[in-house]
Formats: sequence, C-alpha cells, structure tokens
Amino acid sequence: MSPVAERLAQVQKQIALYAASCNRSPADINLLAVSKTKPVEAIVAAFDAGQRAFAENYLQDALTKISALENYPIEWHFIGRIQSNKTRAIAGHFAWVHTLDNSKHAQRLSRQRPDHLPALQVCIQVNLSKEESKGGVGEKELSALANMVTALPRIRLRGLMTMPDPKTGPAVQQAAFVRLRELKDKLNQQGFTLDTLSMGMSNDMQVAVCAGSTIVRIGTAIFGARA
Ligand SMILES: *Cc1c(COP(=O)(O)O)cnc(C)c1O
Repeated sequence: MSPVAERLAQVQKQIALYAASCNRSPADINLLAVSKTKPVEAIVAAFDAGQRAFAENYLQDALTKISALENYPIEWHFIGRIQSNKTRAIAGHFAWVHTLDNSKHAQRLSRQRPDHLPALQVCIQVNLSKEESKGGVGEKELSALANMVTALPRIRLRGLMTMPDPKTGPAVQQAAFVRLRELKDKLNQQGFTLDTLSMGMSNDMQVAVCAGSTIVRIGTAIFGARA
C-alpha cells in the first residue's frame, strides 16, 4: 500500500470510531481529501485507494491538476477564498464551493455556471471566530445571503461551512461547530432544506464529527504535512 493509501485508510477508521463514539452512522460523514499544494501523483494514489472527492484552495494550481486528471471521475470542491475575477473558472470546473460569503459572488457563480453542468453545489462560509483575516459572513448576514442564494437558478445551497481559529482549543472549536449546526437548524425551521455541515479538519475532526459534521475536509492526515 502507498503511504497515502495507508493514511487514507487510517482516517476512514478514525471517522468510523469517532462516529460510533457519539452514536452517528459513519455513512453520514463524507470524507473530502484536501489536496492543496500536493502533486497529481498523491491525488492518483488516493483515487486508486477509492477516494473520489478532492478539494483545492489555489485556483491556478487546481486548474492544472483538474486538467491533468480530466479522465478521472473526480468530484472537485473549491475551498479557497473566492475572488470576483476567478468566479468563471470556479463555476466551470468545480462541483462544489464551500466558501461562498457574499451575494455578488453568488450571482456571478450562478450566471457563469455552464449549461451542460448540473447546478453548482454551495455552502455558505460562516465566520464564527470573528477573525478579521478570515472569510465568511457573520451570523447576522447569514439569513439574507441564504435567501438570496436560494433564489438563484444555477447554484444550489446545500449547507454551511466554518473554520474555527486553529489557535483555540477543542472547547472553543466544539462551541463553533455546535453553533454552526444550530444555525443550519434555524434556517431549516425557516423553510430551507440544508443537509450539509462542512466542518472538521485534521486536527479537529473528532469534535466536528460529534457536533454533526457531514463533510470533513482532511488534508494533512491523508497527504502529510504541507511545505
Ligand atoms: C487546508 C484546509 C483544510 C485541510 O486542513 P488540514 O489541517 O491539512 O486537514 C480544510 N479546509 C480548508 C478550508 C483548508 O484551507
């Protein structure tokens, strides 16, 4: 087995254990392999071990890899900061976007989504740690943006995403994940049909799983440390 395949199997085992520890079904937790900065060979190693969903942050890098792997039935997720001048390429090459945080980008993604592709699946990123440097809408803006996104024809709102401040400990991270779940539940009570909570990375996967994550975004634990 390749080192990537071994680590991938280890992560799958961890997800199953964490799920069992809080009475969740591992089948409800999707593993998204974050391949940013990693070469095509590493992605192929994970693909050969059965992984199909991969995420990238840096658009130019991502487009190179997507093109090199065009014959692989990979589901590509964009998890980087969105810039207006990049929305066309994002809309043209990805199945999912996890980092939507403003209405202008939502409108552009919907307008630019090619007709031959299904609607772009999106999560709204919520900034719960209030770090200035980080993307994401505040809680107060969330409902308005969700309403606006839902009205657009070519993108489909699936849920919410958050990234706690990595400098904080498990208690603060857990509070953020639980809050994100509450925000999703609140939107669903208002009539939305959100089914996705994109939360949990290599270092906070356990708390995220037990707080209700449906997509964990795992890079380091699968591909090793980034340079
Ligand atoms: C890099 C990144 C990840 C993966 O982080 P790891 O700690 O390597 O698992 C997940 N989500 C986002 C948005 C990222 O930028």
